[in-house]
Amino acid sequence: MIETKEQVLEKIMNTKKPACPYCGKPMSLWEVPDIVMGDGLGWGTPYLNVCFDNDCPHFTGGWDHIQENYAHHASTRCINYPGTKVFESMPVFSSVGGTGQIVDDDILAKREAIKEAIKKGFADLAECFTAKDAARVYSILADPARPPKVRMKAAEMMLDFGTLAEVEDLAHLKIGAPLIDKKILEAVGAIMARNHCRECPFCAEIIKDRASTCKHCNREVTGL
Ligand SMILES: [Zn+2]
Ligand SMILES: [Zn+2]
Repeated sequence: MIETKEQVLEKIMNTKKPACPYCGKPMSLWEVPDIVMGDGLGWGTPYLNVCFDNDCPHFTGGWDHIQENYAHHASTRCINYPGTKVFESMPVFSSVGGTGQIVDDDILAKREAIKEAIKKGFADLAECFTAKDAARVYSILADPARPPKVRMKAAEMMLDFGTLAEVEDLAHLKIGAPLIDKKILEAVGAIMARNHCRECPFCAEIIKDRASTCKHCNREVTGL
């Protein structure tokens, strides 16, 4: 199975950051730039742990070593394949080389917050499920602060046990995420079918399947 970049990152985040074997400082998670991924070197991973410490002997020593041997002004950083004990070297051409791809703690904290919000959302939805609280499921679905994964789950739950009390709002809810909006549409259809209702072909209000005239616009709807 091929893992998505997200899944790889998720896994890395759940493992401890290694310390650089040369300087002992914690390594930074580094997003391998596409240009490097595609150049045939094939690190074969979207993320590496890199020691970006400028006092790291691997880095400071590397300058002299490469200058002497190759007459290039460059050095090497110590890298680690996440989840392994494999430490190797990566060439850099300045002290800031590669630092643009550091996945900093700020971003990780944000991802962590999203993970928490997803956990919380699923817990809230589980409560709704037990209580068959469709109104609360709707409010979770309509809440833009909820992560898309949670809103998608809420849409699925509306499909399962949403009621006519929510269907009006539900029909007008546009989230802007195509998959969720599609699920909402399905939910509207399912709720109407469960309640033997349909949309009036003239005014789009909800009427009984059996109604001969629409109670909202008073038009004849028999056979339509
Ligand atoms: Zn180091
Ligand atoms: Zn009507």
